[in-house]
Amino acid sequence: MRKALQVYCVTLILFCCSHMVGAVTSDKFHFSDMGDEIYLQPWLSYQKIIGMQSATDSYNESQYLWWLVRKAQTENLIYFYDDFNATVKQAISLITPQTPLVIQAHLNLYQGIIHQRQGNYSLSEEVLTKALLLTKKGKLQHLYAYAKQELAYTKTLTELFETSLIDIQEAYVEAFALKDQFLIGSINETYGAIYGYLQDYEKSIEYYQRALETYRYLNYPAHIAEAIYGLASTYRYWKKYDLAIEYFKRYQQSIDYTPNLNISFFSAYGLGMTYAEKGDCELAIAMIDSALKLKGLVDYNAELYKRKASCLIALGHLDAAESALFNAASEFSKVPEIMGTAWQLEVVKISGELARARGDFSLGYEMLEQYYRQYTKLLINKSSDRLLKVRANLEAERQKITYALEKKRSEVELLELEKRKNMSIQEVYFNIFIICTSLVVLIIMLVQYRNNRKMRLLAIKDSLSGSFNRHYVFEYLSKAITGSDPDKMQLSIVLIDIDDFKHVNDKFGHPIGDDVICCVADIGKKVFCRGNVFGRIGGEEFLCILPKTRISEAKKIAERFLSLINQAKMISGHQDKVTVSIGIAGLSEQCSDEKQLYINADQALYKAKHLGKNQINIF
Ligand code: GH3
Ligand code: MG
Ligand code: MG
Repeated sequence: MRKALQVYCVTLILFCCSHMVGAVTSDKFHFSDMGDEIYLQPWLSYQKIIGMQSATDSYNESQYLWWLVRKAQTENLIYFYDDFNATVKQAISLITPQTPLVIQAHLNLYQGIIHQRQGNYSLSEEVLTKALLLTKKGKLQHLYAYAKQELAYTKTLTELFETSLIDIQEAYVEAFALKDQFLIGSINETYGAIYGYLQDYEKSIEYYQRALETYRYLNYPAHIAEAIYGLASTYRYWKKYDLAIEYFKRYQQSIDYTPNLNISFFSAYGLGMTYAEKGDCELAIAMIDSALKLKGLVDYNAELYKRKASCLIALGHLDAAESALFNAASEFSKVPEIMGTAWQLEVVKISGELARARGDFSLGYEMLEQYYRQYTKLLINKSSDRLLKVRANLEAERQKITYALEKKRSEVELLELEKRKNMSIQEVYFNIFIICTSLVVLIIMLVQYRNNRKMRLLAIKDSLSGSFNRHYVFEYLSKAITGSDPDKMQLSIVLIDIDDFKHVNDKFGHPIGDDVICCVADIGKKVFCRGNVFGRIGGEEFLCILPKTRISEAKKIAERFLSLINQAKMISGHQDKVTVSIGIAGLSEQCSDEKQLYINADQALYKAKHLGKNQINIF
């Protein structure tokens, strides 16, 4: 008897499914921005949807239907059952053959829930079966599993346990294959309900706990409350009244997510029934009366009246008990499907007890005898060997399915692992390839760079002495003079010529002469190093450009050079000295071009030769 609580969870899964499909089918209206919000905050989501009402004028037919579907979903979640019924009715009246299957499936499912809640079980079964067909046709797997589960629940309510277990089994397999945690949680909850009805309370608690765990993990307040309610109800049926009262109180605390006061009906109902069954009749009657003042459900009210009648008999208020029994019977008569079930049958039992309390023992006996006869028949049906077997088989099968699906899943995971491994091997190869290619390119670039450098050096260096060549030295001189450097007037040049070199060649041969050239060049490179350019411009002639250098400074450097030349032993094994003559010239007002500068230096050199060689002359 917790179906009303059970059914609204359908809304959430429907929302989930429709949300996904809706986002695709409706351009203007979709909930892609709401996401988990509806599960986490049902009341806020409801207000959001209602806030969109003014925009619905611009919706086309299917968009408007989507809006209605979602409005219904939230109304159901927050216990606005009348609004929910009206919204579903309005939406169904707008269905045409062109209406998308997913919308039709949703609305049929809602209609099934409404019938189920109102106790119209055969109608509920019919509409849910239609919803199932639509979900199958539209390949709406999540919705299919949910419809199947809902159908199972409806069948349970009419005590068709055998087929309901088969249906729930199918829903479970679907949900498991879809890896839909929420759906598995909901199905576990329905299992909890079915096992509760089958009086297998331990199992019922186990399944409800599993559902509660899932809902707590997902943090869905409405579902958490619902699973707690399931646990409380099972403890009540199990006659563990203190636990039941504890859980019903917990439930009362867990429903503050909706401001709808009528939701309190269920906790008042649970507590009233539990107190009554526990024998706390005064507490029970107070609680039952407060529940009856709230907007409850037909069959729930019937139960309340029944329990109230029992309590009133126990307290000796027989007339009040009779009127409560009358109310119970009339509530039951509003739900034809419930006639003949254990719940309705109990009215006969309490009537017998009332007759006995009034002293009418034969009527009392007759009614009790009638009750027990019919109740025994029901019990036999419920716990028939066949049903027990079906239950045992289904439980075993469920475990087998779980195992098989787990196996399949692990196989898939293994394949994926293999794939990932292959991919990572490919990645390694690819990386090696990239590294090798990069290395080759790098080597080629390096070789190219070295060649270029060599070529560049060859182009500017003198191959014998390793100093700069004539072309480079004169080009440098030209650039230094024509450049915009304001210090250019301070540029000096030093022209060097080896003395009597012909004699060196003649006496020691050309190779030794070459060595002497190299030796002079090495000393020159060393002395005229930083910021200057020293090069061989002819056979045994050298020129050094000294930018930003006054003649006086150039002279000092040239003196150092001359002294080093004089100290050097250039021809090994011989005491013969090699000397050089040096001519220095600098840029000035009178001499501002390179040609003149060179001529001036050459004249200075000539003078140095003329004055006896091995000396410096400044122009
Ligand atoms: P001076 O003191 O007046 O400069 O007399 P000199 O003998 O050095 O002058 P001259 O210009 O008459 O002689 C230069 C000689 O240098 C002539 C040439 O054979 C020699 N020569 C030119 N280039 C090279 C070379 O690359 N290697 C060698 N070993 N000798 C060279
Ligand atoms: Mg010469
Ligand atoms: Mg010479």
